[in-house]
Amino acid sequence: MPFKQNVYEQAVYKEPAPIRDEEHPFQSMIRRFDVAAKILELDPGFYEYLVTPSRVHITAIPVIMDDGRLKLFEGYRVIHNEILGPSKGGIRYTPDVNVNEVKALAAWMTWKCAVVDVPFGGAKGGVVCDPGSMSPGELERLTRRYTANLLDVFGPEKDIPAPDMNTNAQIMAWIVDTYNMHTRASSTAVVTGKPTILGGSLGRVEATGRGVMSVTMSAMEKLGMNPTDSTVAVQGFGNVGSVAAKLLAERGCKVVAVSDVTGGYYNENGFDVESLVAYAEKNKRSLAGFPGAESISNDELLTLPVDVLVPAAKEDQITSANAPDIKARIISEGANGPTTPSADRILEENGILVVPDILANAGGVTVSYFEWVQDRQGYFWTLDRVNKRLDRMMKKAFDNVYAASEQYEVPLRTASYVLAVDKVATALKLRGIYA
Ligand code: NAD
Repeated sequence: MPFKQNVYEQAVYKEPAPIRDEEHPFQSMIRRFDVAAKILELDPGFYEYLVTPSRVHITAIPVIMDDGRLKLFEGYRVIHNEILGPSKGGIRYTPDVNVNEVKALAAWMTWKCAVVDVPFGGAKGGVVCDPGSMSPGELERLTRRYTANLLDVFGPEKDIPAPDMNTNAQIMAWIVDTYNMHTRASSTAVVTGKPTILGGSLGRVEATGRGVMSVTMSAMEKLGMNPTDSTVAVQGFGNVGSVAAKLLAERGCKVVAVSDVTGGYYNENGFDVESLVAYAEKNKRSLAGFPGAESISNDELLTLPVDVLVPAAKEDQITSANAPDIKARIISEGANGPTTPSADRILEENGILVVPDILANAGGVTVSYFEWVQDRQGYFWTLDRVNKRLDRMMKKAFDNVYAASEQYEVPLRTASYVLAVDKVATALKLRGIYA
């Protein structure tokens, strides 16, 4: 049944969220913020303001299940702040989501939007549920009631949700419909990550991988590296990794290694990435059995003598155990949190340029912003226009972070936070505190 397939289709756009400490996610977020606040000598009152979510909504969601039972679910929406614009952030449906996690992720969205100069504040939402065990009808009723409960919170000028873990374009379509039924309006800009027929943007699926390519090109330029003389290894061959590999190859880089959950694949002459993509498409998204490749382990891939390493699989892949053996000159973090803090120190000592996740994988949130702009204009851009504008924004964001890293003599990761916190604090000073 095609309807059911759409419900369970994987989200094409997930707001990245590398918050490591599952027990204390909010404190973990604050530790990163603290480094930037110290460098900026942030006023204690401003510090307090910027770490505190402006609103935390907790709502009970009653759903009539298919067997006639009434079941209550708990939903959250945290608005971290709206200093730079309406708040923006995904909604996740998972059994273990909790308000502390949502608070941390909402704050993280504030910094992320600020780094790429997107005029949004930060938010995040979640519903405690197990979508895998729910029918399409149950998911639809849950989504519509969650939306109705938060009707005063959401809005194109107020708070704009997006897909995140276990939510997708279909779920966004239900939010649009419910919101418009209640407001008696026709506003598609209330969410991003919608189907294109309902006002989604072209280029959204490729946006994160494209952003990774773009910042990698900028990093190479800074280091005086020529793409056509450079080799690349990509860990993870899903949405982000495969697009990044394809676009880097298009720019002349030699992609010598790729991997997925089935293992690593190496070809010293460089892969034809298009044929890897075509193979994975036919093979349930797996590279297992790809001909013309030497089999390597995922660990071996990370320590290959390549110029660029793109971790695009999952968190905590580069640790203090393997960091000393990493030979790449540039690491572009497609995944969220692929490098642990202790590995960061080692990579820095070894002079490796790490383009951090908050910047490198921000292509998705940038095209999400484009989607909102197009919806409000009621005028949709060509793919070429979306891509050119994305490239321009990613390049500018990279240059700004790079300049901040030189100014404050810190790695790009710290520089990203310094830039973001400074921007939000400056905007807050200009707006002032309403009495
Ligand atoms: P995906 O599910 O499409 O792909 C993940 C890939 O990683 C698959 O090829 C999988 O086989 C592989 N993989 C899983 N475990 C692995 C392992 N141990 N070793 C090697 N490969 C492994 O996911 P995605 O959307 O490409 O996301 C990848 C990362 O990028 C995640 O950290 C995600 O949060 C982050 N991210 C994604 C987006 C987006 O727009 N999709 C945006 C920002 C950040």
